Amino acid sequence: MQSRYTDADAEQATKQWSVPSLLALRTYTARLLGQSPSLVLHGGGNTSVKGRARSILGEEIDVLYVKGSGWDLATIEPPGHPAVRLAPLHALRALPKMSDEEMVNELRSNLLDSSAPTPSVETLLHAYLPARFVDHTHADAVLAIADQPDAERICREVYGEALVWVPYVMPGFDLAKRCADAFDRAGPAAGVIVLEQHGIFTFGDTAKESYERMIEAVTRAERFVAKRQRQEAPATATAEASFVLPRLRGVLSKLAGVKSERGPVLSLRASPRVLSFLEQSDAEALSQIGCATPDHVIRTKPTALFLKPGGETTAEALSREVTAFAQRYDAYFEAMCRAKKVTKTKLDPWPKVVLFPGLGICAIGKTKKDADIVADVYEHTIDVMTSASAVGKYKPVGMGDLFDVEYWSLEQAKIKHVPEPELGGTVAVVTGAATGIGLATASHLLDLGAHVVLVDRDAAALAEACGLLKKRGGARVASFVANVTVEAEVQAAFAHACRTFGGVDLVVSNAGNAPEGLLDTPEGEEKLRASLELNLVAHNRVSRAAAAVMRSQGRGGCLLFNASKSAWNPGPGFGPYAVAKAALVALMKQHAIDLAPYGIRANAVNADRVRTGLFGGGVLESRAAARGVSVEDYFRANLLKREVLADDVARAFAYLAGARATTGCVITVDGGNAAAFPR
Ligand code: ZN
Repeated sequence: MQSRYTDADAEQATKQWSVPSLLALRTYTARLLGQSPSLVLHGGGNTSVKGRARSILGEEIDVLYVKGSGWDLATIEPPGHPAVRLAPLHALRALPKMSDEEMVNELRSNLLDSSAPTPSVETLLHAYLPARFVDHTHADAVLAIADQPDAERICREVYGEALVWVPYVMPGFDLAKRCADAFDRAGPAAGVIVLEQHGIFTFGDTAKESYERMIEAVTRAERFVAKRQRQEAPATATAEASFVLPRLRGVLSKLAGVKSERGPVLSLRASPRVLSFLEQSDAEALSQIGCATPDHVIRTKPTALFLKPGGETTAEALSREVTAFAQRYDAYFEAMCRAKKVTKTKLDPWPKVVLFPGLGICAIGKTKKDADIVADVYEHTIDVMTSASAVGKYKPVGMGDLFDVEYWSLEQAKIKHVPEPELGGTVAVVTGAATGIGLATASHLLDLGAHVVLVDRDAAALAEACGLLKKRGGARVASFVANVTVEAEVQAAFAHACRTFGGVDLVVSNAGNAPEGLLDTPEGEEKLRASLELNLVAHNRVSRAAAAVMRSQGRGGCLLFNASKSAWNPGPGFGPYAVAKAALVALMKQHAIDLAPYGIRANAVNADRVRTGLFGGGVLESRAAARGVSVEDYFRANLLKREVLADDVARAFAYLAGARATTGCVITVDGGNAAAFPR
């Protein structure tokens, strides 16, 4: 592992942030650690620097700037290391015992800024080490040698006299004291602190020294592991994710009692390295041992659900496996509560990681971001398990210690309980999503908490729309270039949705065009044929692909179609469009009838005169002329004299998405048009 420290970047950091240079450099190297996933993952690790600060009375006091909870080292800013008065923390060391709640109270009480985030639970450990800079990570390579039955001997072999060895203790006051005592006993030879089954601390007079000691220590561990590592044959996927994931998602949703048309979001990892691990004969056994470092238990649970290679992946088979996993989890919870004589509120018993040989790691979360974090953590768990097995035997903390962290009030606080948004857990596919009504609808669904796959045939416009929505929705936004008149492209779009989010609950079938023409001419008939292909048959193609996914999930679903007022009130010379749209309303009704037994709803929005790309290429001027009005009047020619906006249509689609008792319905969004009242 290479040091990424450069003097130029360090100097830039001190200029970039107008804080004392110690804190700026602390922030800089904390980020360097955080940006290396093999050192630090998602909120893991912590860092500190000791300095001076001035109180409101003007007195200079010693403080510890230490990572505050809620900050991620990869993106940390100077306020992410709040200042805590150092002297009172030292005074606490004399106490024989302190509960975690008392410790947090002391940390918060000694903050210089009462509104700062709560200092890390490992703050006292940082305080009691005398060095100015202290860095802590859960580096993969260090865990590979620290998660061993004879880890101390191996770590001595790697680090020699410089090693300060600390047997496993849960993070908190006791660990801080034991670590400080071990450090004091080691004297000047101390160069690196390894915490059994947990991680590593380095320290130094400067930010660079502490950081580069971390890199050097991790590099030594990496070299030690590399010498012993077997070369695995790369493996490739043998199962089709887009078939298996929706079934798993449906099973998880059903067993957990989630409302229909919703489910967890899945994240699939299928690198050759992951697939090759899953084919190893000891993969199942390793996956049942426990987390690489206790911190990970809140992300992945103590163990993963491993599905036997070549086993059945029908919904019934998956349901049996998930149920058995939950029963094992319940038994673990009860056994631990009994053994420890404690009463705890049980977390949900469902797996966070499902391992499919031939398919990959399937991580599960409430959102794509959550699922991605679980997947990242488990990919690194595989690295640690593989490396530890090469070194000797993977032996991380046992179930009893994992339980203490999983049900630790301070760890529980890291997981925020936010109320579920209206379309939380809903995966939506929107066609024709790059512009106009499609884009407005995708945007609105996103605001209501849905995960959205934007589909359009215009790659450039789609990339722009996707980039725009990603600014707000991040990982909840995906896109796929597809022409809805091409069967293979529609199939691929739905397969992409399944691979990205695990399934589909809602489809807004919107892509279309507005051809004009006289049906009593050969040209008009040609246009009708093309219009039926895009404005009717393509909607059925999309519905068919959607219904296949929805049926495999077994949790219902919602099909929404963009019809038009032309279905009720055709305009002169607009036959190719009006006939296809009238047929589209009939298509919607037919799906409402035929798919109801599967809980799949079908509804349409009947919009009129929305200023979108549909009116490009002279169509707008031509339609206004056909009605004998000016372009501006054309948009306001309705009972309310109000121009209908794409956002008005988006709101109607969103309403139907949540209207669980409504199917076979058309909602009119046209400002009022008596001639087109549906009846
Ligand atoms: Zn730690």
